[in-house]
Order: sequence, then C-alpha cells, then structure tokens
Amino acid sequence: MKIPLSFWEDSFFNEIFDLAVVGAGFVGLSAALEYKRSLPQAKVIILEKGIVGQGASTKNAGFSCFGSVGELEDDALTNPIDSVVETVKRRWEGLGILRANIPDTEMDYIETGGWEVFQDKDEYEAAALSIEKWNNLLRPIIGKGVFQVQAIDKMNFQPMSIYNPYEGQLNPMKAIQYLYRKAISEGIIILKGIDVDTWSKKNDVFEVLDRDSHTFCSKKILVATNGFTGRLLSDLDVKPARNQVLVTKPIHELQIRGNYHYKKGYIYFRHVDNRLLLGGARFISDKENTSSYGQTSEIQEYLSNLLKERILIDQSYDIDQWWSGILGVGNAKGPIVKEIERGLFVAVRLGGMGVAIGMEVGQKSAQQILNSK
Ligand SMILES: Cc1cc2nc3c(=O)[nH]c(=O)nc-3n(C[C@H](O)[C@H](O)[C@H](O)COP(=O)(O)OP(=O)(O)OC[C@H]3O[C@@H](n4cnc5c(N)ncnc54)[C@H](O)[C@@H]3O)c2cc1C
Repeated sequence: MKIPLSFWEDSFFNEIFDLAVVGAGFVGLSAALEYKRSLPQAKVIILEKGIVGQGASTKNAGFSCFGSVGELEDDALTNPIDSVVETVKRRWEGLGILRANIPDTEMDYIETGGWEVFQDKDEYEAAALSIEKWNNLLRPIIGKGVFQVQAIDKMNFQPMSIYNPYEGQLNPMKAIQYLYRKAISEGIIILKGIDVDTWSKKNDVFEVLDRDSHTFCSKKILVATNGFTGRLLSDLDVKPARNQVLVTKPIHELQIRGNYHYKKGYIYFRHVDNRLLLGGARFISDKENTSSYGQTSEIQEYLSNLLKERILIDQSYDIDQWWSGILGVGNAKGPIVKEIERGLFVAVRLGGMGVAIGMEVGQKSAQQILNSK
C-alpha cells in the first residue's frame, strides 16, 4: 500500500534529476560517482531495490583475480586470442581502478596469490604446456611473467598446480559500503527499497515508476541491474546465472590460504580468516539460469562432496552457511555499455569478473552519458 506523501516528500519526488541510476552495485555506484565528480552541480539519484544489497556485488566470493590458464585457454577456443588478452588487460587495469578508489584497508584487501588446481592429469599437462604462451602474451600488460607451476599438497588434486602471485582477496560488502559513504558525501542521493518497474518519457524527461507507485523524474537513466536486467529490458543479451556458495564454520589450523580456481574457473574456493568458502559449479545443472535466490540439493551435494573428497580431506569441519548470488551473462562475454535510446543507458552483463571490471565499466558508462547530447 502506498502511504500518502507529505508536502515535503511530494516536492522531493517531483524534483527533476539529471541522472537516475538503477542499481547500486559496483557499476551503478562507480558510474554515479564518476558522473557527479565530472559535473558537481548535477542532481544524481541511485534507486536500489535491496535494503543492504541484493546484487552480485555483495554476494560474491571476493576474489581479486584476472583469469587462470584453464579459463583463458577455454576462452581462446571461441574467441580470437587478441580479445582474450584484451579481456585480461581490462580486468588487470580494472583492479587498479578499484584499488585506487577504495583504500585496501577499507575493504580488507590482501595479496594472497591464486592457484589453479586440476583433477585430471591430461588437463593439467595441457594447461602447463601453455603457461609460456600466456606469460609471453600477458608480459606487456602485467610487466612480468604471471603463471608458474607449483606443487600443492594437503588436497586431493593433481600434485602440481598453476600459481599466479598477483591475485588477492577482499571483503566485497565493505567495498560497497565504502562506495555508499563516498557517494553520499559527494551529494548523491541513494534510495533503497525502490524496485524500479518501468519508465516513460514526456518532453525529454523520463518518469521512472517503482513497484510501490513512487515516481522519479530524470533527464537520463542508467540501468545498472546486471543479472536482473531482463525484467526491465527484455531484448538485451543479458541473462541471469545463479551461483551458490557455502562457507564453513571456523576450522582449527586451516592450512589452505589464498585463492583457488578449479574447472576453468567455474568452481572457486578461498580462505576467509580461518573458514573455507567454496562456490560455483553452475555448469552441472540447467536450474541455475534464474534470477531467483535459493539453493538446490543438486549443487549443494556436488559442492559438499567436493569439499569433503578433495579440499578438506582428513579434516573435521561444519558448513556454517549457504547463500546464492546472481550473475549477468550472455551469449557474448564482456559487458554491454551503451545508449539504447536517447537518454537511456545500460551498463550490464558483468559475468564472473565484476569485482575486477565493475568500477571501470561504471566510469566508462558515466563518460558515455557525459558525452551524449
Ligand atoms: C556468487 C558470486 C561470486 C562471484 N565472485 C566474484 C569474484 O570473486 N570476483 C569477481 O571479480 N567477480 C565475482 N562475481 C561477479 C561480480 O560480483 C559481479 O560481476 C559484479 O558484482 C556485478 O556488479 P553490478 O554492479 O553490475 O551488478 P550487481 O552487483 O548485481 O548490482 C545490480 C543491482 O541492481 C539492483 N536492481 C536490480 N533490479 C532492480 C530494479 N528493478 N530496481 C532497482 N534496483 C534493481 C540489484 O538489487 C543490485 O543491487 C561473483 C558473482 C557471484 C554471484
């Protein structure tokens, strides 16, 4: 039920904003900040349906990474090698932008390194053979060789893994909270609990309507809703993909430290203090093409078995918590950043690397909006 507005509230809702951003994840917050910094007098509002955060930005695994050999090889099967290298460049530079905007201490950023592990010997040997190729391709970007073979023990995978010393970890909730504080301190209005439903345009001004019948007027709109975009713009090539995640209770003398990638990056695990976080495996089921939160016994069983049989072998532990998050994916890899009609912009489809590229995508989108008529 819509509660009648006061005179003051009504005046607020009747204001015409210069930019209304739908979605307060990494992309929406970064775009709003970049726009406001370039045009300090602009009136910018962010409309977010969650009360804390409902998107991938606060439900992800907190890896600061840019691709494992297995993932890059897999991408190179369907994409020109130049574009795969370009993607790594974008992620690497994106992580630089993230860390330039959010102090490491504010998001508990730590450099941990990352390991790609393999179950299958042939798969490991094929990946190991391509290390030199990828090191040569990435040296101009990273400045040095990235990947090297390293032994791993204590887990039930191939005894050798592929190590990348330049990976790190962060607390994504803290990162987003920092961006919220920044945005508010720079004069951006953030309204939570606003589930945008539709919009219409009259005299060059959009009237945005939420599910509780509030209206907001804005000259421009940026849709930064990632995996939830289909409900607002069904023609775009962006679909939801759910990822389920578990975290254990604290484990006495947990030996595993750092980031781990498995199955071409579709499965990932890391330590969080003295707990173990494990997630992914959406490839085992077609029920994960959804924007509904929740768990399925299929994925839970698969991840639980993996944890027991390959990761925390000979160790006692309890699973503390399960959750899920929604990615935005599509037939093509890489984000969609464009104006789809005059004044209406999108920056969506961040895939599984939005921690790395989200800030850059938001900034790029803001520049596009600033340069538009
Ligand atoms: C489980 C999981 C693990 C991941 N792990 C990593 C990782 O370790 N490293 C990495 O780089 N990336 C990771 N990712 C990907 C990364 O989290 C995302 O790519 C990134 O957060 C996307 O940011 P975004 O701002 O585009 O979208 P989101 O963070 O999804 O933000 C979109 C926002 O729009 C809001 N919204 C949607 N519809 C509406 C509406 N109608 N009205 C108002 N608001 C709306 C949502 O509530 C949401 O807050 C992971 C993702 C998941 C799900």
